[in-house]
Amino acid sequence: MLRPLLLFLSQSTLVKKFVMHFPLAKKVARRYVAGETLEDALFVTRTLTAQGLLVALDLLGENVERPDAASEATQEYLRMLGRIQDSGLQCYVSLKLTQLGLDQGMDVALANLLTILEAAKKIGLFVRIDMEGSKYTDSTVAVFRQAREQFDNVGIVIQAYMRRSKSDIALINRMGGKARLCKGAYAEPPSVAYQTRREVTSNMKDLMRDLVRDGHYPAIASHDEDVIQETLRTVKEYGITPDQFEFQMLYGIRRERQLELHKQGYNVRIYVPFGNDWYPYFMRRLAERPANLVFFITALFRG
Ligand SMILES: Cc1cc2nc3c(=O)[nH]c(=O)nc-3n(C[C@H](O)[C@H](O)[C@H](O)COP(=O)(O)OP(=O)(O)OC[C@H]3O[C@@H](n4cnc5c(N)ncnc54)[C@H](O)[C@@H]3O)c2cc1C
Repeated sequence: MLRPLLLFLSQSTLVKKFVMHFPLAKKVARRYVAGETLEDALFVTRTLTAQGLLVALDLLGENVERPDAASEATQEYLRMLGRIQDSGLQCYVSLKLTQLGLDQGMDVALANLLTILEAAKKIGLFVRIDMEGSKYTDSTVAVFRQAREQFDNVGIVIQAYMRRSKSDIALINRMGGKARLCKGAYAEPPSVAYQTRREVTSNMKDLMRDLVRDGHYPAIASHDEDVIQETLRTVKEYGITPDQFEFQMLYGIRRERQLELHKQGYNVRIYVPFGNDWYPYFMRRLAERPANLVFFITALFRG
């Protein structure tokens, strides 16, 4: 019951204003968010890479309302690429197409994405397109396909709760594209998405097998031990070596397990978000684990 409510609230501007008004909310969100500035994120990146983990940096932001905001986000990403290069750190970037203007049109988001891909390509960096709500699945896949015709340093995300994902993965595998597989973090209706945890996990395992067998350096993004164990069994079964795929997890979740997998010889990439626009991301993390909500509310009232 709480998950749909929290996901609904994640889109409310009013609740956003209310929650972001509490300095303590920001403090609690720091469990999942590296900080507000790129320098905060680079500091976290340095710490994680020193531990042997890989990093994907995400500048928080989604659903920009004006084309100039999409251009600003694009410029921010270009600055970020320059700063990553200067720092000498090894990490790639993740972004959302609605941050690059997808609500203003596919051509707007594509043009901004191509600008970022060109700059990233010059310095040998990879860019991953996050997957958002089902309203955007078609256009995100379409933009990815067009971008992939020109650039090979771009990947996409596929959500296991979506009923269409098996055919999306087959398409991406045929194209030689790189996919990150995750369960999916938005509220979706039964017409397009599996609803129960059992169905979603079962589809995640099925899609993971398709990716491990036929994919191109797939990323299995989950904190679910059941999924992790099944992935370890599957790579063994197909003779896939640790350099041919990676695990991915979110910053702040199952930190010990991240290090354990790395020590066992697997590539583990941590998704590190940063920026001012942390509210929707934070609410999606609360929705995944409502127990966190109790902690959050208690912290607010103890204030
Ligand atoms: C690297 C990465 C990138 C992602 N990118 C996208 C994307 O582009 N689009 C998208 O829709 N979703 C994305 N997600 C989110 C994903 O879809 C899930 O919502 C999220 O990962 C939780 O699913 P799970 O597989 O970890 O399994 P779950 O069954 O949700 O969780 C398994 C266990 O992990 C732990 N856990 C999970 N979430 C939390 C939390 N918030 N706080 C504390 N513990 C937790 C708990 O121990 C839980 O029992 C991404 C996730 C990762 C790891």
